Amino acid sequence: MKKAVLYHKLDNSKVLCTACARRCRLSPGQVGFCGVRGNRDGDLYLMVYGVLIAVNVDPIEKKPLTHFHPGSKVLSIATTGCNWACAYCLNYDISQRRIVEGFYFEPEEVVKLAIETRSDGITYTYNEPTIFVEYAHDVGVLAHKHGLFNTFVSNGYMTDEAVDYISKFLDAITVDFKGNGDDKFARKFILITSYEPVFNTLLELKKRKIFIEITDLVIPRVGDDLNMAKKLSRWIVENLGPETPVHFLRFHPDFKMLDYPPTPIETLEKHVKIAKEEGLKYVYIGNVPGHPMENTYCPRCGKPVIVRYGFEILEWNLDEENRCKFCGYKINIVGRLKNNYSPFRSRFIFIDLYRRKYISRDPVELLKAK
Ligand code: SF4
Repeated sequence: MKKAVLYHKLDNSKVLCTACARRCRLSPGQVGFCGVRGNRDGDLYLMVYGVLIAVNVDPIEKKPLTHFHPGSKVLSIATTGCNWACAYCLNYDISQRRIVEGFYFEPEEVVKLAIETRSDGITYTYNEPTIFVEYAHDVGVLAHKHGLFNTFVSNGYMTDEAVDYISKFLDAITVDFKGNGDDKFARKFILITSYEPVFNTLLELKKRKIFIEITDLVIPRVGDDLNMAKKLSRWIVENLGPETPVHFLRFHPDFKMLDYPPTPIETLEKHVKIAKEEGLKYVYIGNVPGHPMENTYCPRCGKPVIVRYGFEILEWNLDEENRCKFCGYKINIVGRLKNNYSPFRSRFIFIDLYRRKYISRDPVELLKAK
């Protein structure tokens, strides 16, 4: 537990959390919607500082980031809690857990682990990293000093203060839309009132030159409106640029939405068609291994410049400057292909957990403890 950075005192006892767009106002003893930030004696504390519920090595394509250091490995970390309450969350066991729980890792230990596992960067993922942003900041600043990059997988429901704070260490971000950015969907299945803060975050991230990829989870019947997909694609083209990679992801039944079917492939293909008609140059289908829209096609000559299967890169047709080998078009890619890609990039890592302190506390009780 550590005193937070992103908050204001409202008076002698109440605080306003400024990490995410919920902007919770908390009295002493109260915990925010996310379950990990709470008011203790008139100050805001991050209760999951250093308390990691998940640590794993992943291929960067799993985030997905397909245009940022392709083929690299990232150490992925997560805490419990989340500022959204998605009814379909694949990671609901950690995101909706309202216990501060996990093994304790100092920021130095996370960076050391990334180096030991030969990771190229650190990704803050599985739950919403904005809620543990002070810890991410301390890890991220240290990671940069050791030549590692930092990426977030985020819902983008942040404040300007949070974007400013993460811009000190963040290199790239995947911002995840669900249900085509439709507010009606968001109110019913995410428990937020509007997507407006997410669009605002994207504009602020772009100003700060953080590399952005977008995903959109397409959910049959309730989050697959093609007019909304068109609107979202147009917004991305006009505000982030046509070179922004966009991934339409297949939904799989989970958590409270077990009675919904997986997204039909044809629905995803219709989304791709619309996004391309709106001018997006790099559009993908995710969660459908083997689909041709996993590949990157040259926007000029149409030839496949990166051929993928799932998270693996099978073929690389770019030159030293990431230009198309067939026609010379410059593809929007940061970094060169890493040669360490292999089927073993995604794996659990052995950590001497038995030596580590395990924390499992009710957040309200934790705030009271001295
Ligand atoms: S990060 Fe948590 S406490 Fe802060 S505003 Fe968001 S939900 Fe509330």
